[in-house]
Amino acid sequence: MTKQDPHFWKIKSLSEMNSSEWESLCDGCGRCCLNKLEDEDNGEVFYTDVACKLLDLESCRCSDYQHRVKQVPDCLVLSMDHPEYFMFMPNSCAYRRLYEGKSLPDWHPLISGTTDSVHLAGISIAGKCISEQHLHPQELEDRIIELND
Ligand code: SF4
Ligand code: SF4
Repeated sequence: MTKQDPHFWKIKSLSEMNSSEWESLCDGCGRCCLNKLEDEDNGEVFYTDVACKLLDLESCRCSDYQHRVKQVPDCLVLSMDHPEYFMFMPNSCAYRRLYEGKSLPDWHPLISGTTDSVHLAGISIAGKCISEQHLHPQELEDRIIELND
């Protein structure tokens, strides 16, 4: 693993970060793994409480991160090659926040020192969603939720 600079997110741009730093930005909230609906007229994105089939609903982590794109072709892999993907992330997402020139919130594990803070702040989706495996796609519209920041 590559060594991280302390507070690297304050002194480096996203494109300057090494892979270890980049991966550590993910707070593990699991929000990006919720099914979304997009308004075709204005592009507005709506989140639902229905999670991707690969999401571990307790840990909020992908159960096959390494092969996720093969298993879920529309899984968005974040990188600076596709900055347009950031707009599909929730407002709380560290990648989106830094891309928009914002700071990391106090509950982010890089600041709090623990992943528990993501759950305590009510940001993670642990215990708040169901798997898409248990839902017919036509029922998605009934599952739209509001996410706090
Ligand atoms: S929304 Fe952002 S911070 Fe949360 S799990 Fe997805 S990539 Fe990580
Ligand atoms: S494949 Fe994994 S990372 Fe991608 S949306 Fe599904 S659970 Fe999330």
